[in-house]
Amino acid sequence: MPLALATHAANLSILSDDYFEVHAAVALGTALLVGPALARLGQAAPRRGRVFAGAAAVALALVAPPNDVRRLLFGSPGVVAPWVAAAAWWPEPTFDAAPAVDVRAPHPDARAPHPDAPPPVVVLVTIDAVRADAIDAPDERADLPAFERLYREGAAFTQARSPGSQTAVSLAALFSGRSFSALRWAPYGVGNTRFLYPAADPAPRLAGLLAEAGVFTSKVGALTFLRNDFGVAPGFADELIVATGRTHAPATKVVPPLLERLRAAPAGRPGFYFAHLTEPHAPYDRGRLKVGPARACYLSEIAEADRWLEQLLQVLDTPALRGRALLIVTADHGEAFGEHGTTEHSKTLYEELVRVPLLFWGRGITPRRVDAAAGLIDLAPTILETFGAPVPAEMDGQSLWPWLRGEAARFTRPLVAEGRQRRALWVGEHKVIVDHRRRIVEAYDLAADPGERHDLSGDAAFTAPLGAALREDFAARAAAPDAPMVYRN
Ligand SMILES: [Zn+2]
Repeated sequence: MPLALATHAANLSILSDDYFEVHAAVALGTALLVGPALARLGQAAPRRGRVFAGAAAVALALVAPPNDVRRLLFGSPGVVAPWVAAAAWWPEPTFDAAPAVDVRAPHPDARAPHPDAPPPVVVLVTIDAVRADAIDAPDERADLPAFERLYREGAAFTQARSPGSQTAVSLAALFSGRSFSALRWAPYGVGNTRFLYPAADPAPRLAGLLAEAGVFTSKVGALTFLRNDFGVAPGFADELIVATGRTHAPATKVVPPLLERLRAAPAGRPGFYFAHLTEPHAPYDRGRLKVGPARACYLSEIAEADRWLEQLLQVLDTPALRGRALLIVTADHGEAFGEHGTTEHSKTLYEELVRVPLLFWGRGITPRRVDAAAGLIDLAPTILETFGAPVPAEMDGQSLWPWLRGEAARFTRPLVAEGRQRRALWVGEHKVIVDHRRRIVEAYDLAADPGERHDLSGDAAFTAPLGAALREDFAARAAAPDAPMVYRN
């Protein structure tokens, strides 16, 4: 019995995270240890009492509890019964309301850049796991001169969201302009790189479309699955993958080849260059601070990424590229430090994991802060417009150029995020998250509650239009409604 209690306590405290299978295994072990002890207690009770207790337990298990009770039951990650009940017979949340979404406006016609203008060079740098609030407050940027410069001289979207909290989900959406469930995911790769990827999805992707428009495309990847054939970032004419297996290559291997390519950019040809950095990333040991509180080591790794961005800015500031280069810096997702009971990324869709920096600097950019809720899904249409290339109707994102030019504009596409069988949708400052595995819904008013502490799902007037919008949007756009929900990397 003491061993069983110790096992259970360890399950709840040490593994306080979203690993249901691990919890289930530990809970089963606990049950095997506790069971015989309880059985002896049961024999002592009168027969009628045992029958009554058994019947009450069965009745409680069969009734699907309301949403707020479900949330309480899942409050302890080590409790197995609600996972089993949700998977077996709890119904999905339902929303009885008219959905709160706009009618999608078509993409504007392509406009070729002025013939006398030098051909654009667009550099897209995605940095792993940079949550927006790690750098968007001026005092956070004291040690980040490159970010400081981008905020000062560039356009900053202050409410940008990633389409998921996992790299492959997020970058696949970025390069396709479509959300995760609008793509087809199937096992791809060999050995320890084999996982679900949109390798066979026929949707047009950014690099291929740019190549058709005569743009030179080049990529340096710090992760194996950024190779063209995995379908996350496909179609680049020039690619250098500096990672092997599941490793995350350091910026020392990524940025120097990118700079080399930019210095050699042909004068008369437009070019698109993409690189993904994996500083910061757990275990946060690539910054100057290698030992200490996780958040401090994490910030030290962001400072490391900043030093590389400084080198990149120096190259973009040379006469050959000044006036031609547009730099876009963003992150594939954020990073959690226990805000909602999880750490690192990929497990939830709360703001610490999906609110990301989105900065534009250089060609055509005047300094401004834009509070409209942009998404990484908008980058492919934005980059296509930069080169005067048409945006295919399949792309759900919307070009950000009206906002970058300071024009009055409005998003008509819904903003969504997905992962771990969860889906989230924003309408203005209101957000709904539906968890299809746990069969629960949460709703937040981010204006009043940016930390998502006060769940408003009990308020039907607030939640139902958001939930109905989420349901209708995914029903209309999901490529294969059953398949994509399983992504769990
Ligand atoms: Zn990532």
